[in-house]
Parts: sequence; C-alpha cells; structure tokens
Amino acid sequence: MADVYTGAEPDLAALLAARPAFSMNVREGLSFESVPLNAIADQFGTPVWVYGAGSIRARFAALKAAFAGENLPVHIHYAVKANDHLAILSQFQRLGAGADVVSIGEFLRARQAGVAAADIVYSGVGKSAEELETALGQGIGQINVESAEELEMLSGIATRLGVTAPVVLRMNPDVDAGTHAKITTGLAENKFGIAAADIPALYAHAASLPGIRALGLALHIGSQILSTEPYAKAYAKAADMVRALRDQRLSVEVLDLGGGIGIGYHDEPGMNLAAFAATIRRTVGDLGVRLMVEPGRYLVGPAGLLLASVILQKRTQKRFVVLDAAMNELMRPALYEAWHGILPVDPALFHTAQTQADVVGPICESADCFAQDRALPDLPPGTRVALLDTGAYGAVMSSAYNARPRAASVLVDGGKAVLITPRQPPQDLWADEIVPA
Ligand SMILES: *Cc1c(COP(=O)(O)O)cnc(C)c1O
Repeated sequence: MADVYTGAEPDLAALLAARPAFSMNVREGLSFESVPLNAIADQFGTPVWVYGAGSIRARFAALKAAFAGENLPVHIHYAVKANDHLAILSQFQRLGAGADVVSIGEFLRARQAGVAAADIVYSGVGKSAEELETALGQGIGQINVESAEELEMLSGIATRLGVTAPVVLRMNPDVDAGTHAKITTGLAENKFGIAAADIPALYAHAASLPGIRALGLALHIGSQILSTEPYAKAYAKAADMVRALRDQRLSVEVLDLGGGIGIGYHDEPGMNLAAFAATIRRTVGDLGVRLMVEPGRYLVGPAGLLLASVILQKRTQKRFVVLDAAMNELMRPALYEAWHGILPVDPALFHTAQTQADVVGPICESADCFAQDRALPDLPPGTRVALLDTGAYGAVMSSAYNARPRAASVLVDGGKAVLITPRQPPQDLWADEIVPA
C-alpha cells in the first residue's frame, strides 16, 4: 500500500532480485517459473494473466512449515475471493486446503473445484436467506455469523430444514491492523463482526437456539498486514474471550484466526511467517481449540502477474506509457492507490537510461493509472511489461468497462504454460443482452 510502505522505490534489478520465481536471461528475456513471458505473449496475446502453480505450492508449503515449526495444527482455508479461478481453487483442493467463501457463488465454485462442503467456511456481513439455505442444504462446515440478526435468521432456516447449523461468531476485536483504510476490518467502526462486549450474551443465546450449534469464535482484522503486532493484540483478545465463555460453562471448540497475511509489493519482505506462527502459539496455542487461518493474498498474490504490451508513449508535460491493460483488468491501483512493480520483459531495457513516466491504461478515466512518476526506460510501442504480484485481487475484480473483453489467463506448471481462460471474443460481451421488441 502506498500509504504504509516508507522505503524508496526499488529499481528494476531490486524488484527482480526480491522475486525468486522470476529470472532474466539475455536471450529469452524475463521468465516466470522458467517460462519466457515473450513465449506466452506470442502464443496467447496480451493482456494476459499468468499464474504459477509452483509458486502456489511453495507458498502453501512455507505457511504449513511455519505452523509445523511451532507444532501447531492450524488448518488452512484459502480465501476464495483473492482469486476464484477453478484452476487455482483446484490447486488448493489438491494441497488439502479448505476454502473460506463470502458468497454462495464462491461456495459453489469451491464445490465445483472439489472442495468438500464440510471443509468450507462461509463469512460475510450479508448472507441472504437463500444463500444460507443452499449452504446448509449441502452440509457446509462452518458459518461465521456476523450479527444477532443473522443468528436469528439462521436458526429459523436451519429449524425449517431440520438441520443443525455449525456456527462460529465473528468477533470485532477493535484492533487497528495498520493497513489501508479500505482493507481494514477489525475496528469497532467497521461493518464487520460483533462487538466483543456483545459476544458473551450472544454466544450463550446461540448455544440455546434451535438449529444452531455454537462452535467457537472467528476474527479477521484486515488485509495486507505486515507486522505481527495487530495479530498479537487481536488474538490475545480472542483468547481472553474463549476463557470468559468457558467460565460461563459454554463450549468453545474452534478459533478461526482469519486472513490478512501481507506480502512485499516493493522489495520488502512480506510477513515473517515464523514470527506469525510464534504469535499464534503464544496467544492461543494452549487453548485446546481447533485453529484455522484464512489467507488469500499471501497464497496467490506473488504467484501471478499481468502481462501487457505498450500501445504507445505519449509525451505532454509528462511521459505517459499507455498499455493494452487497464483498470478494468487490474483495479487495485485505482481502488486502493496500490503500488505494483512493473518489469520490462526485454533484458536490454534493464540497462538503458530511465526517466519518470506515468503508466496508464486506455480507459476514459483518470483513475486508470497503474503507476505515477515511475522511473522507467524508454518503452516503445510493442514493448512487453509484467505488472507484478497481481495474482490476488486482480482478475477477480475485473470488469468489461469500456466494452473491453475479458483478458486471457494461463497457468504455468512444470515449465509449461496452459491456457485456463480464453480471451473473450468481443461478440460475447453482448451475447446475453436482450433488446425488447
Ligand atoms: C478477505 C478475507 C480473507 C482473506 O484476506 P487476505 O488479506 O487475502 O488474506 C479472509 N477472511 C475473511 C473473512 C475475509 O473477508
């Protein structure tokens, strides 16, 4: 996030050095997981999303290893909203991850990718009766309830269906995650969760309601968190709450620790996973509850890039590099002022003179800007560039604004790139539109 990172902007070499999945070869140019990006652009065109299965596996393994290092049996539920492509979901399904979903669409996607309903957690402030009915009917493993109103609604639906809803109450710990205002969720003023002061009475009520089985507590304080400090505070509050509920003779079996693990978008390290695991052990490790986490960004962010081509460079008072990718593909810079590294694919461009440029898309909005005053070499028309760390909250936020067909996407695995989303033909943009007679 632009407002959190305080270091200098890394140069091209520093960006590359901080990303071991990338390599630069004098003949082939920039490669991702050993596949030259030029070959991908030649075969599939641009803009194209490129995801790396090896990176996904490595990141999942690193998180598991951090928990194992603390002897913590923490179950990982992948937060589907970060990247909901079936090919990505099936990677996590094969790795043994559960899924964290925030809509019935995500629930059905995870099911389609082979995730067992029992291994799916359903979060969100506004689940409709219809959505809850579908999830309960398929045997969902856990529903994270975010209000007293939702609890009543769920009890009614479960009773009518003759099932018991496995319920966890989402507590708002009122902790500042120290992240961008638009992605912080654990402050009392945010719309998420139930105030800590209201949890004991509501939990006792849940335990007595028909159709409800109160399993435990959940919390999720925000996204792109780089320090263990907010986690330590929030988890300590959760531990206190578990003890307080048990003092009331209420049973607490589950503690869902949420997501939010941050990554390095510049050349800074992301969250220190060993320190994160140690924080969990220290704060909630001896409660004897089933622990789970719900990371999204950490698992897929650096495992993806958006490959684009320069349409032209326009010079006014400033230099504008206009790409064939735009904010309809990647919204994060427009939405959160997010910073993404940009690397040219051509190795010669790493060594030529640089000047400041704004890197923009062709959409008719001034917010359609990927980078401002970025030091970059001359990037003539046709030059290919990679927008880094766009595997999370990238394609999922895409739209067809300005009637721009959906970009293609490929998955790289074992040195081969496979098409996983064909580029949308323009006529498909209006294929389901109805003109009344
Ligand atoms: C978005 C979200 C996550 C994932 O957040 P990341 O920052 O991508 O790890 C996890 N849990 C809940 C409830 C969420 O809303």
